[in-house]
Amino acid sequence: MEEAIRRCRTAGVRICSGGVIYATPRDDLSPVDHIFLGEVEDTLPQFLADLQAGQPRAVYQAEDFPDLARTPRPEWDLINFSDYLTMALQVTRGCPHDCDFCHVAILNGRQPRSKDAAQVLEEIDGLYQAGWRGPVMFVDDNFIGQKAVARRVLTALADWQIRHSYPFIFLSQASVEVADHPDLLALLQRAGFVQLFLGLETPAAASLAECNKKQNLKRDLVGAVRIIQKYSIDVLGGFIVGFDADPPTIFEEMAEFIEQAALPTAMVGVLAAPPGTRLYARLAAENRLTGQSDGDSIANLSGMNVIPVMGRARLLSGYKRLLTRLYEPERYYRRVADFLSHYCPKPVLAGPSADQNRGPYFPAGGLGPGDQGPGPKVFLGFSGPGAIAVPSDLPSGHSHHSWRISLQNTEQTFRGYASLKAGIPGMLSVRQRKMLLPAENSKNILTRMNTDGHG
Ligand code: SF4
Repeated sequence: MEEAIRRCRTAGVRICSGGVIYATPRDDLSPVDHIFLGEVEDTLPQFLADLQAGQPRAVYQAEDFPDLARTPRPEWDLINFSDYLTMALQVTRGCPHDCDFCHVAILNGRQPRSKDAAQVLEEIDGLYQAGWRGPVMFVDDNFIGQKAVARRVLTALADWQIRHSYPFIFLSQASVEVADHPDLLALLQRAGFVQLFLGLETPAAASLAECNKKQNLKRDLVGAVRIIQKYSIDVLGGFIVGFDADPPTIFEEMAEFIEQAALPTAMVGVLAAPPGTRLYARLAAENRLTGQSDGDSIANLSGMNVIPVMGRARLLSGYKRLLTRLYEPERYYRRVADFLSHYCPKPVLAGPSADQNRGPYFPAGGLGPGDQGPGPKVFLGFSGPGAIAVPSDLPSGHSHHSWRISLQNTEQTFRGYASLKAGIPGMLSVRQRKMLLPAENSKNILTRMNTDGHG
């Protein structure tokens, strides 16, 4: 953030900023020209009018949470697709849950608001007409925050995908109770969702209770992940260490949980308290804050602003031990292999796209959840001696795309963890990349990854 501000200043560019880092006004960052507090459907037009009149203000504060029907359609012509791996759209904002470390309630509210299906399809059509093919991330706080809305939108998205032969694969974020709704999972699968980020947080029940993550309590979290994986949806797990209630064994328990759940990518961060959250207020009252969090409690730990009950040194050494175990190559690839044995692609509907490098590829007919056919083999190598063959049942195009998403996530994770200077590998080598990819596709994919920004 500071670097972006510095470079804009050097270039003489007017700087507007907003989002989570400015959820509440703060004075510990370099000053910017204009700060937007809250959502900008109303304040941005006002700012533009003020700018035109030569009297822009320093701070624009949203009065309420706007109706998303007023959100303008993205102008895709303003960006160069080749600079991006994934496009971003949004259906809803807000989340009905109330996890105490989360800023969503402050930023977007606990009463979710949604676009209707027609507006979502208009945006999808725009993206398609602009020429994008491949991954689209719905950057919703919780895609299933309003289940009736999710059903309507997913039904419309699935019909659209079928009509257009699945030019997109979708990713989003959801709360774990999605696993309780087979109809929603079937719709997600039919619409072409291949990955959901889930805030699983911790296997320690006392820590879940501490942060008010009620929806994760009194349930089999590993079982929930399994259910989702069987609908051909990869679960990207979010985890936190450093809760007051964490037992001394939390690092080992979390590693075992992640291995049991067969999560290829686990994003583990240390507890941080963003300004404005209930956690922030509690810890401020207990005099346990070291400053403001910039929200980055994974990559460089600059967001780590909590004095942990277990002590900072113990937390950091356990954290590094955990990450080293999770991303040690042999353990990592074991998890991937285990994931593939649970992941059950259900090929649906449309045939392969004309361009095998730019879409999901679900051939007609095929396996349903729970069925495991013999299928073709995908070969994964290990850094050590030997290699394993994993039954995948994935058509080559689909495996190609899923692996690229997984590879991208893994590389971001590795790159972030490298900054801990804990001896954790920073980037996948070309050899490691090849190990992550189906052998028959690896050369083509690696070539494209080095020359082309998106799928
Ligand atoms: S479920 Fe996720 S988005 Fe909703 S309050 Fe909890 S952490 Fe925030």
